[in-house]
Amino acid sequence: MNVKILENKKQERELSNADHRLIGQQLDLFSINEEVGIGLVLWHPKGTIVRKIIRDFWEEEHLKNGYQLVCTPHIARGELWKISGHLDYYKENMYVFEKDGEPYVVKPMNCPFHIQIYKSKPRSYKDLPIRYAEWGTVYRYERSGTLHGLLRVRGFTQDDAHIFCTAEQIDEEILKLLDFAEHMLQRFGFHEFNVYLSTRDPKQPEKYMGSEKDWKTAQRALAEALKNKGITYREMQGEAVFYGPKIDINIVDASGREWQCSTIQFDFNLPKRFNMTYTGPNGKEHEILMIHRALLGAIERFFAILVEHYEGNLPIWLAPTQVKILPISDNYISYAQRIHEKLQACGIRSEVDSSASTISYKIREAEVQKIPYMVICGEHEANLKKISIRRHGVGNLGLLSTKEFIKKIRNECGW
Ligand SMILES: [Zn+2]
Repeated sequence: MNVKILENKKQERELSNADHRLIGQQLDLFSINEEVGIGLVLWHPKGTIVRKIIRDFWEEEHLKNGYQLVCTPHIARGELWKISGHLDYYKENMYVFEKDGEPYVVKPMNCPFHIQIYKSKPRSYKDLPIRYAEWGTVYRYERSGTLHGLLRVRGFTQDDAHIFCTAEQIDEEILKLLDFAEHMLQRFGFHEFNVYLSTRDPKQPEKYMGSEKDWKTAQRALAEALKNKGITYREMQGEAVFYGPKIDINIVDASGREWQCSTIQFDFNLPKRFNMTYTGPNGKEHEILMIHRALLGAIERFFAILVEHYEGNLPIWLAPTQVKILPISDNYISYAQRIHEKLQACGIRSEVDSSASTISYKIREAEVQKIPYMVICGEHEANLKKISIRRHGVGNLGLLSTKEFIKKIRNECGW
C-alpha cells in the first residue's frame, strides 16, 4: 500500500469545475429536492446505473472474499435500539416515530440487525469467522447547516459489514481486511492513502468499555497487521471511541484532498449488550469478538469523491453511457441502431443520437456529456461495414469493425 502523509497539500486544481453538485446536474446523475427534503438524494437513471455497477462489483468481491450477503429492514422497534444503547445515547440523531403506542426507529446503523442474524441460532467456534455484508441504507439527522451535496446527507447507504470471530482469528482477519480495502480502493483509481490507528487514552481507562486485556489484544492486532504489511501509519492516542480501537484508511484524491473511506473498528460494547457468544472446543460459551467495517464508506459520499476525482470523466467501466452512436444523417439511423443492438447484447452501455442535429453538434454534445467513446456512422462506414471511432478528449481513432470495437471496450473495462 502506497502511504504518504500529507500536511494540507495545496489544492492544485480549480475545484469549482470539479464540484460534484455541478457535474451531477450537467450529467443528469442525481438531484436533491426541497419538497422531498434536504439531505435526501434522488438518484437519476444515469447515477443509478453507476451505483449498480459499484454495487455489483462490491457484492462479487465480497462473495469471493468469504462474506455472506444479508438484507435487513429500514425500521425496527424502539426496544432493539434500547438494548443497543442508541435510544439513550444517540437519540437526537435518530428519526423516531410511534405506532400502536410503541416507539419505532428508522435505522441509523445496520449493526443490531446483523447481530440478530448471528443470534438466530447457536454458534460454534467451527462456524467462525462469520462475515455479514450489506449495502444498508441508514438515516441520521444532521443539522441543515452541515448538509453539503452528496458529501453530507441525511439518508445514505453504507457498504457495511460485521465480522464475528474468536480472539485467535483476529490477526488474520485484520490482515485480510487491509488487503481487501486496498484492492477495492485501487479498483476505483485511488493509490495514495493515509492510515490512522486510533487507540485509547491510557490515562483515562474509565472512559472506555471492555477490559484492559481486550484493548491490548485489539490494539496490538491492529498495529501488528499494519506493520506486517509495511504500512506507515499515524497513531492517534485517545482518538478511539469508547467501544474499541480502529484503523481508518483515508484516500488522497487528484486534488490532494484527503477523504476517510475505509474503517476497521473493534466493538467491545455491542457483544456484551446483546449477549453474543459461541461455543468453544471445551463446550463452554465465550464472548464473540465483533468488528465493524466499511471499505468505501457512505456510497453517496464515495460517489461524490469519484465524480470530483475524475471531474466527471468516470473510467469506462463506471461510465453510465460508454458509447454514443452518431448517425451522420437520418439515412444511417437504422445502421446505427443495428450497431447499438450488437453493443448492447455484449453488455456495453450505448445510446443512439437520432436527433436532426449536425454531426459536429452531436459530437460536441457527446463530449459535453463526457461519454468515453463516440461511433460515427455514415455512407463511408456503411459501405466498408465498419465504424469510425472517436475517444472523448482525444479525437479520431479511425475505422474498426464492430467486433474489434467490442473487444477494445471489453479489454479496457477489464471484463
Ligand atoms: Zn456496525
